[in-house]
Amino acid sequence: MRRYSAFAIAREAARHHQGWERAWRSPEPKKKYDIIIVGAGGHGLATAYYLGKNHGLTNIAVLEKGWLGGGNTGRNTTIIRSNYLQDPSAAIYEKARSLYETLSQDLNYNIMFSPRGVMMLAQTQHEIRGYQRTAYANALQGVATEFIGPQRVKELCPIIEIGGPRYPVLGALWQPRGGTARHDAVAWGYARACSDMGIDIIQQCEVTAIRSQGDKVQGVTTTKGSIDCDKLGIVVAGNSGVLADMAGFRLPLESVARQALVSEPIKPCMDVVVMANTVHGYMSQSDKGEMVIGGGTDGHNNYTQRGSFHHIEETVRALIETFPMISRLKMLRQWGGIVDVTGDRSPILSKTPLEGCFINGGWGTGGFKAIPGSGWAMAELMAKGASPLAAAFGLERFREGRFIDESVAAGVAH
Ligand SMILES: Cc1cc2nc3c(=O)[nH]c(=O)nc-3n(C[C@H](O)[C@H](O)[C@H](O)COP(=O)(O)OP(=O)(O)OC[C@H]3O[C@@H](n4cnc5c(N)ncnc54)[C@H](O)[C@@H]3O)c2cc1C
Repeated sequence: MRRYSAFAIAREAARHHQGWERAWRSPEPKKKYDIIIVGAGGHGLATAYYLGKNHGLTNIAVLEKGWLGGGNTGRNTTIIRSNYLQDPSAAIYEKARSLYETLSQDLNYNIMFSPRGVMMLAQTQHEIRGYQRTAYANALQGVATEFIGPQRVKELCPIIEIGGPRYPVLGALWQPRGGTARHDAVAWGYARACSDMGIDIIQQCEVTAIRSQGDKVQGVTTTKGSIDCDKLGIVVAGNSGVLADMAGFRLPLESVARQALVSEPIKPCMDVVVMANTVHGYMSQSDKGEMVIGGGTDGHNNYTQRGSFHHIEETVRALIETFPMISRLKMLRQWGGIVDVTGDRSPILSKTPLEGCFINGGWGTGGFKAIPGSGWAMAELMAKGASPLAAAFGLERFREGRFIDESVAAGVAH
């Protein structure tokens, strides 16, 4: 792989950009791999990348039914933060956030990480208590957050109306090194680095069945033929239940569409990310100037990967009291993704009842921020059979009642 650099840009500019090579190969599948990962979203690609980088395993195929990054990874609102309540969550999300800090250099691909700061508004007494508690927990976990008052909120984000009649802003949980990154670039950067290590990324290749011999995984059947493997990683977000069904077990999660929208581009007016969980909406401004607005999940389980009009109305109506300026914005486009949500709002990184088959899912409405940490932990789990970062997120926690309750940090939509 030829490295990207300022020198490379100058060189290609001088020769009319004829020398750029393809960012990743598009090989035909081999008959057998040591490891197959199903799903070329951020989590699947990061898993493959850290299997190669940290464990020296590169006889790997990542199978994708559509195009890489075309699932939730390319549909999310890109918020990155690690201000979770429970210790195992803070550990894996903070690992991810810290990896994001240097991911562009690590991958030699500009993922446009922008640690502009994330605030979660407290607009009820209940939220004040919840976020103060999280700030204390974060202090013990080594995650840099603080609870700030309404005046500081206004200083950091002047377009907020803090004196709203129904939901005045009473404070916020502030994480100064939270922020955003360019979602497609995260997928593309990992894909390029994987391909460079010899890992095969096979797009337009849908897994239609999982084959086993006895209790052990043997391979998969795909729209490009049968492929054998020693180990299989299921990393398909909203389709986790479908793949688990193919492997012969059930998962304690629900799939539901989650929507977002962006406005027309406007001049820079907001350089932090703001989440207003009581009214249920959040907003940031993209580098292009669009206001990126996230709403909630649909009220019923479904696999509909698209937006709907009532969501625009509900989300914008909810946010207008806190951000009166958006009443004058024109909305440009909206979309949906299928998220997989567990009962305790925490992910699943686990072995499964089928030997050699692992699952990474249940990230629900908030897994973009976790991609590097999740890939790191999943790779360790698949390579070594155990990972300290993944230990608490096993499937057995649902049977044993050891829930990791993140309904305050992740129960809403981000
Ligand atoms: C509107 C919206 C906003 C969001 N906002 C945020 C946010 O601000 N911050 C945040 O942290 N998270 C956010 N999320 C959540 C985040 O997007 C997801 O948790 C994360 O992207 C999941 O990544 P993934 O790699 O697991 O899944 P995906 O990116 O969905 O990748 C899974 C891939 O598996 C493929 N696949 C499925 N079935 C098969 C099959 N049978 N064979 C082969 N391939 C298959 C799919 O095509 C897909 O490409 C948001 C989600 C949505 C929908």
